[in-house]
Amino acid sequence: MRRKLVVGNWKMHGSRPANAELLAELLGARPYGADVAVCVPFVYLGDTAAQLARSDVGWGAQDVSAHASGAYTGEVSAAMLQECGCRYAIVGHSERRAYHAESDELVAAKAQAALGRGITPVVCVGETLAQRDAGETEAVVKRQLSAVIHTLAHCAAEMVVAYEPVWAIGTGRTASPEQAQAVHAVLRAQLQAATGHAGRMRILYGGSVKADNAAALFAMPDIDGGLIGGASLKAADFIAICRAA
Ligand code: PEP
Repeated sequence: MRRKLVVGNWKMHGSRPANAELLAELLGARPYGADVAVCVPFVYLGDTAAQLARSDVGWGAQDVSAHASGAYTGEVSAAMLQECGCRYAIVGHSERRAYHAESDELVAAKAQAALGRGITPVVCVGETLAQRDAGETEAVVKRQLSAVIHTLAHCAAEMVVAYEPVWAIGTGRTASPEQAQAVHAVLRAQLQAATGHAGRMRILYGGSVKADNAAALFAMPDIDGGLIGGASLKAADFIAICRAA
C-alpha cells in the first residue's frame, strides 16, 4: 500500500511574511493522512526549514544543479540543498524544460545529483497539447522517464514521478481522472519493467489540481497524490487537497 504524497510547488511566489502565515496554517491543520511537503524558492529554504523543523511536513527545492560544485553562477548544488534539510527536489518541471531548454539528459543528471545527496527527486514528465493531439502522449512521457531510469539505474526506484500534462499546468484545465490514470498506468508499467519495484513507487498527478477535483483524481488506482502549483499558495485550498489525499 502506497502512502499518498502531496507536494506544493510555490514556483516564484511568496514573501517572508506570506510564507510564514501559509506554513503556520499548514502546520495548524495537521495531522494529514498523507505525506505533505512544500517546494519553495531557494532563498526561502532556510526560513522554511526553521519553521517546519520537528514537524512531519517536509520541504524541498524546485530545481537542483547537475554539478557537484564549481564555477556555475546562479546554480545551487544538491549538497547545499542537503544542508538546508531538503527531502525533495523537483526536476524537469515543464517550465524549466520550456524556458531553460532542459533536456531529458540534463533532467536525469539532476535527478542523479539529488539522489546522491539523499534527496528524493520529483521527476516531472508530461506532454504538450500538440503532442496529445498528435497521439504522442505515451511516447513522450516514456522517453522522458526512460532517460532518468537509465541514468539512475539500480536507484531508479527511489524517485518520485509526477505526471504533469503541460496543457493542464496553470490553465485551469485538468486531465480527467480517467485520462490521468491511463498515463499513470503506462508509467507504472515502465517503472515495473525497469526496477521491479513499481508497486512501492509514487506517481503524482499535477495540473490544475484543486480542492474540488483532488479526491476524484486521488481515488484512481495509480495516482498516489499530487504536485500542486497555484492551489498550494492558498492555505485553505492546499489543506483541503492534503485532506483529500
Ligand atoms: C505545477 O506547477 O507543477 C502545477 C501543477 O501547477 P498548477 O497546479 O497551478 O497547474
